[in-house]
Amino acid sequence: SNGTSKGHGHKSYVHRITSNWGTTANVSSHSTLGSNGINNLQKSSDMLRGPDGQFPQKLRCLPSDLVERITNEIMNCDTNVRWDDIAGLHHAKKCVTEMVVWPLLRPDIFNGCRSPGRGLLLFGPPGTGKTMIGKAIAGEAKATFFHISASSLTSKWFGEGEKLVRSLFAVASCCQPAVIFVDEIDSLLSKRKSQEHEASRRLKTQFLIEMEGFDNANDQVLLIGATNRPQELDEAARRRLTKRFYIPLPSSVFQFYSTNMRKIIPLGGKDARAWIVRSLLEKDGLFKLSKEDIDNICKFTEGYSGSDMKNLVKDASMGPVREALIQGLEIPKLKKEDMRSVTLQDFVDSLQEMRPSVSSNELGEYEDWNNKFGSLS
Ligand code: ADP
Repeated sequence: SNGTSKGHGHKSYVHRITSNWGTTANVSSHSTLGSNGINNLQKSSDMLRGPDGQFPQKLRCLPSDLVERITNEIMNCDTNVRWDDIAGLHHAKKCVTEMVVWPLLRPDIFNGCRSPGRGLLLFGPPGTGKTMIGKAIAGEAKATFFHISASSLTSKWFGEGEKLVRSLFAVASCCQPAVIFVDEIDSLLSKRKSQEHEASRRLKTQFLIEMEGFDNANDQVLLIGATNRPQELDEAARRRLTKRFYIPLPSSVFQFYSTNMRKIIPLGGKDARAWIVRSLLEKDGLFKLSKEDIDNICKFTEGYSGSDMKNLVKDASMGPVREALIQGLEIPKLKKEDMRSVTLQDFVDSLQEMRPSVSSNELGEYEDWNNKFGSLS
C-alpha cells in the first residue's frame, strides 16, 4: 500500500454489506448552527450578515456565490465530537488542549510570549482519529469548523481553487474563533516537482500567503493540516505548521515520542481498541461480550487502526443477521428480540476477511519523521 488511500478493498466490502442495514447515520452537517442557535431553516451564510443584511466589509469584494458555497459545503458548526469520543491518544489530547484549545478559548491570556502557533499538523496512518481530533478541537474551543480536503481543491473546486482559498480564510476570520481543517494537506503543500502544474503551483502559493497573513494578524483562526504522508510536505509548509503531532495507531507497542529517545510513553492501545469495540456495541445495545472475549479481540487486532476497529465491529455485528439468513429466516419477518447477540466468534469470522490497513514498514516511516520533525515530547 502507498498509504495514501483511505479506501482499502476490505473496507469497501464492509461498506457494501453494512450500508443496507442502517449503520450509524451521518449527522447532517447543517442540522444546527452551534451556540448561536440559528437553525438550518436559514441559509448558513445568513449568520455572516450584519443587521443591515450585508456581508462584512472583508467579504464584500469576494464572489458571493463562493461565500455561499463555503458556508454550505465547508463550514460546519455542528462539531459534536468531544475528547471523550476519541479512544486513547491521551498524550496528544493533553498537548492539543494546552497548545491549541486554551489559546482559542482565552486569547487574553495566551498572547505575547504565550501566543500559540496558528498552524498545527496532525500526521500518522490513515484512520487513527486525526479528523476526529480536528472536530474535537473546534468543539472544545467552541469554534466554527471548516473542513476541506486538499484534493477537492483540484477536483471539485477545479478552476476556483485560488479564489476559494482566499474566500475560505476571509470567511473564517469573520467566524472567529475558527478552525480550518485541511485533509490530505500533503497534496496541496507538497515538495515542488519539476512537472508541477502551473495551477497547482499557484494554489500552493496562495495558500502559503493566506497562512502568512493570518499568522501576522490577531485572528483567532487555527489551521489544522492532516496527512498520512508527512514526508511529502515541503519545508516552507512544515515551517508554517509549527506544531506537528504524531497520531499513531492504537497499538500496544511502546512508542518513542521524543527526539532524544529518553521518554517512553505507553499508548494504552489495547485499551483504546477495547474501548472502541465496547462503545460502538453499547451504543446499539448489542454489548454482551465478557472481559475475556474483549481481551481476545484486542489480542487479535494488534496493528489495527481506529477505523479498522470500527469496520470490524460493523462487520461482526452482521454475524447474527447472516446466521439468521443461513437458517432460512426471512429478514422482513425477523424479530429483533429473537436475534442472538454478537459473539467473539463473529469477530473471529470477520477477522478472516479484514487485515489491518497499515503495514509495519509504513509505521517505521512515521516514527522516523516524528523523531525528526514531531513536536510531542
Ligand atoms: P483520520 O482522519 O486519521 O484518517 P478519522 O478521524 O477520520 O481518521 O477516523 C475515521 C473513523 O475511525 C472515525 O470516524 C472513528 O469512527 C474511527 N476512529 C479512528 N480513530 C479513532 C479513535 N482514536 N477513537 C475512536 N474512534 C476512532
